[in-house]
Amino acid sequence: MSTTALPQPLAPPRPPTPDLEALAEAARVLESRPATEAIEWAWGRYGPDVVLAASFQDCVLIDLAAQVAPTLEVVFLDTGYHFAETLWYVEQIRRRYDLHLTVVGPEVPADDRWLTDPDGCCAARKIAPLARALTGRRAWISGLRRDDAPSRAATPVVTLDVARGLVKVNPIATWSHADVEGYVRDRDLPVHPLADRGYGSIGCWPCTRPVGPDDNPRAGRWAGTTKTECGLHG
Ligand code: SF4
Repeated sequence: MSTTALPQPLAPPRPPTPDLEALAEAARVLESRPATEAIEWAWGRYGPDVVLAASFQDCVLIDLAAQVAPTLEVVFLDTGYHFAETLWYVEQIRRRYDLHLTVVGPEVPADDRWLTDPDGCCAARKIAPLARALTGRRAWISGLRRDDAPSRAATPVVTLDVARGLVKVNPIATWSHADVEGYVRDRDLPVHPLADRGYGSIGCWPCTRPVGPDDNPRAGRWAGTTKTECGLHG
């Protein structure tokens, strides 16, 4: 008996390749401009085809976006393993800014993969959900900063996310940790409840530990392993 192969589902079309020269020029100009101008640039150029991916360990990027693009869609990746304090904070920030918030979760049930295969766990709980959130978009905005970690030291303000074929905008790439703290203080922004309890960088509870005052804030992420990134940023 002969069998007929079923047609393969079509992959979603990739957006047209961005103009690399225009991106390089935008990166050059926005490097020394206020962070709000980078968000304005993305919003003006891509409108509803750009989203802001927020980790909700603070609300600096959201506060900046609220000033120039208040209806910009904000995406939160709910891995299923966030601290209860993070989920509480997300709700506080959603209400404060009347956020256009999309919460994206994993398509896998609860498991303990983080114990033995943290890269696979991040792939299922962060990378795949972000890919779904970015489907059909042309650009995304992240809160990456150069002084987060040596691996982020060359983060441009505007770049091409080659793997996804999207424009990526990092409005606070040039900010230091002190800049963030100063902005939070000056704007009297709500602080994540764990920030004052030694959590310098806040991710999923199984993979986040508090750090000492002199430690790199990200030292508490995947502490005791060689893993330093979840893979969302290449
Ligand atoms: S940070 Fe940990 S728990 Fe969260 S997705 Fe990655 S491995 Fe899983």
